[in-house]
Amino acid sequence: MDEYDVLIVGGGHAGAQAAAVLRQNGFAGSIAIIGDEPELPYERPPLSKDYLSGSKSFERILIRPARFWSDKDIAMLLGRSVAAVDPAGHRVETADGAMIGYGVLIWATGGVPRRLTCTGHDLARVHPIRTRADVDRLRGELDGIARVAVIGGGYIGLEAAAVLTGLGRHVTVLEALPRVLARVAGEPLSRFYEVEHRDRGVDLRLGATVMCIEERNGEASGVRLADGEVIACDAVIVGIGIIPAVEPLLAAGAAGTNGVDVDAYCRTSLPDVFAIGDCAACPNPFAAGTRLRVESVANANDQAVTVARAVVGAPQPFDAVPWFWSNQYDLKLQTVGLSGLHDATVIRGQMAARSFSVIYLQEGRVIALDCVNATRDYVQGRALVIAGAVLPPDRLADTSASLKELASSAA
Ligand SMILES: Cc1cc2nc3c(=O)[nH]c(=O)nc-3n(C[C@H](O)[C@H](O)[C@H](O)COP(=O)(O)OP(=O)(O)OC[C@H]3O[C@@H](n4cnc5c(N)ncnc54)[C@H](O)[C@@H]3O)c2cc1C
Repeated sequence: MDEYDVLIVGGGHAGAQAAAVLRQNGFAGSIAIIGDEPELPYERPPLSKDYLSGSKSFERILIRPARFWSDKDIAMLLGRSVAAVDPAGHRVETADGAMIGYGVLIWATGGVPRRLTCTGHDLARVHPIRTRADVDRLRGELDGIARVAVIGGGYIGLEAAAVLTGLGRHVTVLEALPRVLARVAGEPLSRFYEVEHRDRGVDLRLGATVMCIEERNGEASGVRLADGEVIACDAVIVGIGIIPAVEPLLAAGAAGTNGVDVDAYCRTSLPDVFAIGDCAACPNPFAAGTRLRVESVANANDQAVTVARAVVGAPQPFDAVPWFWSNQYDLKLQTVGLSGLHDATVIRGQMAARSFSVIYLQEGRVIALDCVNATRDYVQGRALVIAGAVLPPDRLADTSASLKELASSAA
């Protein structure tokens, strides 16, 4: 049986970064990454942006050049999936029946796209966007596609809508809730993006309940809504979230429901088993200590640092401020903090000028910012979020003073 001091399951952002940071921190033991995708670790955000549009090649989205992994003596066991974990025996079983032993196991498996359950969900030309293979399949069909229905008005759906509109396709976005981005942002930001998409010709339907996908010759040909209308299309993109890929770990007895539960050091309830990234539900100091899963590259990278420190014997609790970005058309959104618990918002800057920030307050404290084409606010607002600064809303809205000046006056 092969055995590694550290075995990392999942070769995405979190897994790749954990291996790299372990080496940076001087970890000299053996490391392997076992990942079910065939490719070396690559960046996922471009899949709904530059890689989908064709403006970035796959080589340009690799997280590290191929030689990095061999130079750092990190074994890559690619195209292989872990099916079971034996925590008592400190070993995993792969889907091809092999046993691999570990000293420490780092579970970094992200999630699988949530699928529709209605009739037609499995037709040809119905696409998730989670992996390079998903996007290659979609891109391979683009020549024959004039009309696309995007189900889900979250970041991935909206980014895909922006790219495909830019490529001259007619896009309809179908969102079940009364506004886009409802799970991640406040209403002002949702309304802003709704106008932007509509202005570019996207047919955006809110409160749209999908009943089924219609077919022609085994391929998706339309989306039937609850009110009976059929949105004719040549392809469907489904962006309705992910299900954390934690079944083998939960089956082995790890605590968790939505993902696997970890403590502030990213330790699961199983001995010597850590979990990081999209699949890990971790107490978050920026959400009043609530245990939650955060789906972002920054979270994956920061938890990789937390786990690496714990493994090399210099543990520090996870306390990184969350941040995120999204690119749609010429709009660069940068987010810092978690806005979920806000009870008030302040708009700073001009929405009409397409450069502004939505500042989220909870009981008067700044907890998050969504900055659209406003990088300075994003950079300077970070300190306000970290401090939980209390500032009068009219001062936050007043662009004659920078957020840096406000931060120092609050301090
Ligand atoms: C299209 C798209 C756009 C995005 N845009 C942004 C953005 O703009 N900004 C941002 O911050 N975040 C963005 N995200 C989110 C970000 O990519 C994720 O938060 C990040 O990839 C999480 O890293 P991870 O390592 O936890 O999971 P992943 O990167 O998903 O990696 C997990 C890996 O584990 C593999 N795996 C799963 N189960 C097993 C198993 N049993 N055995 C072996 N391998 C397994 C998976 O196939 C995958 O390769 C985007 C995501 C997508 C899909």
